[in-house]
Amino acid sequence: MSNKIWLSSPHMGGNELKYIHEAFDANWVAPLGPNVNGFEEDLENFLNANVKVAALSAGTAALHLALIECGVVHGDEVICQSMTFSASANPIAYCGAIPVFIDSEKDTWNMCPKALREAIVDRTAKGNKPKAIIVVHLYGMPAKMDEINAIAKEFDIPVIEDAAEALGSKYKNVACGTFGRFGVLSFNGNKIITTSGGGALVCNTQEDKDKAVFLATQARDNAPHYQHSHIGYNYRMSNITAGIGRGQMEVLASRVEARRAMNKFYQDLFADIDGVTVFVEPNSDYYSNHWLSAILVDPKVAGKTREELRLALLEDDIESRPLWKPMHMQPIFANSPYYGTNVSEELFENGLCLPSGSNLTDEERERISKKIKEVFGK
Ligand SMILES: *Cc1c(COP(=O)(O)O)cnc(C)c1O
Repeated sequence: MSNKIWLSSPHMGGNELKYIHEAFDANWVAPLGPNVNGFEEDLENFLNANVKVAALSAGTAALHLALIECGVVHGDEVICQSMTFSASANPIAYCGAIPVFIDSEKDTWNMCPKALREAIVDRTAKGNKPKAIIVVHLYGMPAKMDEINAIAKEFDIPVIEDAAEALGSKYKNVACGTFGRFGVLSFNGNKIITTSGGGALVCNTQEDKDKAVFLATQARDNAPHYQHSHIGYNYRMSNITAGIGRGQMEVLASRVEARRAMNKFYQDLFADIDGVTVFVEPNSDYYSNHWLSAILVDPKVAGKTREELRLALLEDDIESRPLWKPMHMQPIFANSPYYGTNVSEELFENGLCLPSGSNLTDEERERISKKIKEVFGK
């Protein structure tokens, strides 16, 4: 029996344990310490020297704090890309706010600028101007940030960039995560680098970072006793977890290379399979970390549906997964406003994510290749 091939599994670099041992030796076993500071610095240097990063317990927590810092309160409306993981949208509900979902466009599968503008104009006319815009870089593919930021600026609405899947991606040579008022990163177990669980909020100012750390550590006022004038959260990253992060930062560049090589592998594999297209950058403005490689299957041409392919792969213990089911199609968000046509619905219908890990072996690639060729009769 062969071993399971995963979509994306943790890939340690080697020095993670060194940083954890340092934390144990110094008894920094707490949600603060030298690894937290060091990890934040590593991220700041990687992204760009002008941002300030707050390491947190999860990407979801970072999104929640970003919304709070943007002033989102009960009854507000917040715009969110529909095609994404639910963690992009859930924090809107944590704030008691209402998500307004936006369709994707076909080039990047991310937020459609046309539908975004339509939504802002319509919601504003209805008396509820959106308080923030959450844009996502799906599977590492940068969204159309020039167009989206221009619209956000025109209507004076802050952008929160969900770059949970896009650490290492660039748009016009600028790092994803640094385009918005806030950027969000995730280090969950399946992401391009992992701390087992964790996230970060990318801020433009020290003041915004300080506020995030304040809120993330139970909002303690400056007093000798515990004094509170805000509701606080327990969202800070631990010094142990951050030690894993420091080790992972040492290998991030090579992880991006390996994921991009996996994408190239699929481009070559599907080059002579009609009806299947690999998701790639629309032009050289876009540089994806290709966290997950994805394909679109046109069953009329390919002779197979994406579901038939998924089940065939599963038979051989190869994991694959349909694209994110759009939020406006989810039972929990059925009553939320939605703007767009059916681009994301069609992507969901025909799209499949394939094994994309940086730790896949030549042998495993061979297994994937053989099975896919077999499915399409090649
Ligand atoms: C993983 C992910 C998140 C959430 O990050 P966690 O660290 O798991 O909380 C948010 N948005 C997107 C698009 C993600 O893929």
